[in-house]
Amino acid sequence: MLTRNVDMWDALTSVRALEDRFNRRHHYPWVFLNDEEFSEEFMRRARALLPESTVSFGLIPKEHWNQPDWIDVGRQNAAMKTMQSRNVKYGGNLAYHNMCRFNSGFFFRHPLLDEYKWYWRVEPRVKFHCDILDDPFVYLEENDKVYGTSVVCETGPKYDAEQATQCLYMKFLPQSRLSGKQYKARLSASFMENYPQYILPKEDTLMKFISNDNGRTYNRCHFWSNFEIASLDFWRSEAYTTFFEYLDKTGGFYYERWGDAPVHTLALALFLPRHKIHLFDDIGYQHDDWSHCPKDESVWRRGRCLCDARDGFDYTSDSCRRRWDALL
Ligand code: GDP
Ligand code: MN
Repeated sequence: MLTRNVDMWDALTSVRALEDRFNRRHHYPWVFLNDEEFSEEFMRRARALLPESTVSFGLIPKEHWNQPDWIDVGRQNAAMKTMQSRNVKYGGNLAYHNMCRFNSGFFFRHPLLDEYKWYWRVEPRVKFHCDILDDPFVYLEENDKVYGTSVVCETGPKYDAEQATQCLYMKFLPQSRLSGKQYKARLSASFMENYPQYILPKEDTLMKFISNDNGRTYNRCHFWSNFEIASLDFWRSEAYTTFFEYLDKTGGFYYERWGDAPVHTLALALFLPRHKIHLFDDIGYQHDDWSHCPKDESVWRRGRCLCDARDGFDYTSDSCRRRWDALL
């Protein structure tokens, strides 16, 4: 869990919830990360809630958190001001930009994670609606999966104004609406064109999930990175670290407001065969106003869920769940 001292109670609420619904049967270790030293109170209370787990508290190195020195601060400030005036969510909030870059390129490099292969990302103030009776780590390992999420995905415009991601995708693949010559110029600068060795054939990947037009444009569908159960080795891989460096060098984490969710999604969707990615439909989950609740009555009953699937986000217009289901 990445969190701040001021969010202590929200963080502990998530810890308590996941312990009650899952980890009291397993006692998997917890790792807390922060860009400042954790307060003595935070550590004391977290340890008190987790008497049977190994608990560690890590400080994020400054060079993994603050913007790199080649970012033009004048340009960054101007961009952030513009984003704020256009209501790009968190566009004017520097800490949020740092956080998105950290979660895209650095969390898996923290020394406290070195000894692990799998992680479950947990955020403060989330809810787990059902008992998690099947161990998701074991599920992923036994089924040869790399990545799992619960609430899947949303299209962006309402929550993540288009400005937040438009160039992100362009850096990856060129944006299509451009005419011949401009398109060719963009294509030649794109990640896809420069690093074709990392990209799998379209038919094997989730290209259809992230693009409605066979890869010319990004439809903004993404996996919800606030809930991830995944292999750290994917992020540590040469393909992903090369992709991250490539994106980072463009400065887009500051000149735009790229979120870690679309960054993760684009890489997962195009570097991996699609069967490596799993949707944990059984795991009821809530983040802010968005909820995933199992629809199947028997799943709901088995998990002693406390949620109403009719209030769920999955089949609303801003969700990409239908698109996901259609791919299966
Ligand atoms: P949202 O889910 O995109 O609305 O963003 P959140 O505010 O939930 O932040 C995402 C994650 O990053 C959460 O785990 C937060 O605790 C963490 N986070 C966000 N900003 C900071 C920060 O400035 N410092 C630290 N240590 N954690 C942060
Ligand atoms: Mn959040």
